[in-house]
Amino acid sequence: MADIIKLLPDHVANQIAAGEVVQRPASVVKELLENSIDAGATLIKLIVKDGGKALIQVVDNGLGMSETDARLSFERHATSKISSAQDLFNLETKGFRGEALASIAAIAHVDMQTKTENAEIGVHLKIEGSKIKSQEVVATPKGTSISVKNLFFNIPARRNFLKSNQVELRHITDEFHRVALVHPNIEFHFYNNGSEIFNLPRANQRQRIGHVFGSKMTDRLVPVNEETEVVKVSGFVCKPEFAKKSRGEQFFFANNRFIKSPYLHHAVVAAFEGLIKSDLYPGYFLYLDVDPASIDINIHPTKTEVKFDDENTIYAILRSTIKHSLGQFNVAPVLDFEHDPNLDTPYAYKEKGAVIPKVTVDATFNPFQEAAKSSPSKSSYQKTSAKGWENLYDGLDKNIDTDNFSSLEIESDTAVQGTMYSDSEEETQTGITFQLRRKYIVSTIKSGMLVIHQNRAHERILFEKFLGEITVKEGISQQLLFPLELSFSQQERVILKEIQESLINVGFAFESLEEETVKVTGVPLLLSESGIGTVLDRIIADYKEGFEGSSISQAELLAKGLARNLAVKSGEVLDQESQLALVNDLFGCKEPSLSPFQKLTYTTISEGDIEKKFS
Ligand code: ADP
Ligand code: MG
Repeated sequence: MADIIKLLPDHVANQIAAGEVVQRPASVVKELLENSIDAGATLIKLIVKDGGKALIQVVDNGLGMSETDARLSFERHATSKISSAQDLFNLETKGFRGEALASIAAIAHVDMQTKTENAEIGVHLKIEGSKIKSQEVVATPKGTSISVKNLFFNIPARRNFLKSNQVELRHITDEFHRVALVHPNIEFHFYNNGSEIFNLPRANQRQRIGHVFGSKMTDRLVPVNEETEVVKVSGFVCKPEFAKKSRGEQFFFANNRFIKSPYLHHAVVAAFEGLIKSDLYPGYFLYLDVDPASIDINIHPTKTEVKFDDENTIYAILRSTIKHSLGQFNVAPVLDFEHDPNLDTPYAYKEKGAVIPKVTVDATFNPFQEAAKSSPSKSSYQKTSAKGWENLYDGLDKNIDTDNFSSLEIESDTAVQGTMYSDSEEETQTGITFQLRRKYIVSTIKSGMLVIHQNRAHERILFEKFLGEITVKEGISQQLLFPLELSFSQQERVILKEIQESLINVGFAFESLEEETVKVTGVPLLLSESGIGTVLDRIIADYKEGFEGSSISQAELLAKGLARNLAVKSGEVLDQESQLALVNDLFGCKEPSLSPFQKLTYTTISEGDIEKKFS
């Protein structure tokens, strides 16, 4: 039999390697930015078009390359950064594999102009699919400019796999953040489709975080500093009250490289224990410096996973250092989860000495009691429709979707004829409900008992209400007497702009989304003024998280976000009237049995079930 093993041609090998190095436009951005930093640049421009699909360009004022180096840089395993295996244990640079440019050139159209300090004239190279198409001389300033066009032009499957421009831009922005946050001494400019979206002057660490995330962020930061033999920790954590529902402001850097570490993340969360609810993420910007020989960054080509020799020790140091910082800056002992973060000023903490944790206890609370009618202030449920509870008893009038009732009947164990509700006089007239454990609304139905999950039921009601409003564009806006000024980061404003129209349809009104400070002039009817900031923050967070994973429409996401944020929560007392309205509204919904998050909103317990218990 003839020999059948062949060595792959370089361009094929490069294309295969590219699959690992370049997943999406953001990967190219990361590699190019890192190369510029390794080349000692003090000014870096990033230019992106159409989410990086049409163009990614990085221009730097770094060392530049000689003609030979420029050509060589596109060869695989061509690197100026290490020359022996030993160097791997002492890395000072971001790159070292010599794979990035070769990979990028294998799957895109690359245009490079570069000139070193001493050269008279620069080199201009054009490369497509690993082949040098042209080489010319060019007059160019010292430094390097690399443009990457038509990414994945020769791998249609990969190209089709890319997400929308907005989503790709978000990934690029994430990479940009990661690089910019660790190099405050480098000036960065970031242009998207012709407009400058980041202008980051040289600054200190704290200012850079502010330039990236908006100036409100700098007031939220608590410094963290510790130097031990194993690790030097510096950076900031965000005060507990600014912990968010979604990830996004969690940054670890090890030896100036962004890293992901679920293990160390856990150390930070542990330091915040008791200060934030378990479903919130504390924000942090933590810079770890360790002996390069004690860290292995060679695990993955995209190099965000690392292995520390002394991981357990670092965990312990991190946790205690952060705890200490939180304590030192008197931000630790505020255990009041209910209070509204929008209302407190960061300065309030300065005046305080040590604060005794305060836990408010409702001494009158009796879980076995029916809903306390005396605390209507707590009942935040507002009727969403004018339909009365009584309508439910009018038989199946036009307000009520008959389908709902039939589906209800099928679900309950015993088949019920006619309406679900008893025709008997006393029940039809009163509509008896009570609240169980501040969580469920219980009522009787013909077949037995109906138990409604108040939070999920209200989510369903609000979801349908907002979805309707977005679609028919008729949300009722409540004008604010004094416009509310809220500050948002650049990335948050991009999202606000994306969903602006839907927000307006549900009743929001904004004066301008161009500035860091956004003026809110109107809000949906149900939204209280103090809740605006929180709700918008969470909608943005939901949107960031949710949009990628699924193909749900913007309207649906927004309706879900509003519903989740505005719905009556478990633990809230509802007065009798609100309970009735809630039941009424729920069964006026198109799909009353599930919350917008696909959870059961109610269940029924049949007389048979109850009888079984007694047998
Ligand atoms: P690596 O960064 O792992 O060395 P790359 O493929 O990213 O591999 O780059 C190959 C080589 O090209 C680098 O080692 C460096 O010498 C050179 N190079 C790449 N980008 C630049 C740049 N912006 N300025 C100067 N030299 C560069
Ligand atoms: Mg590189």
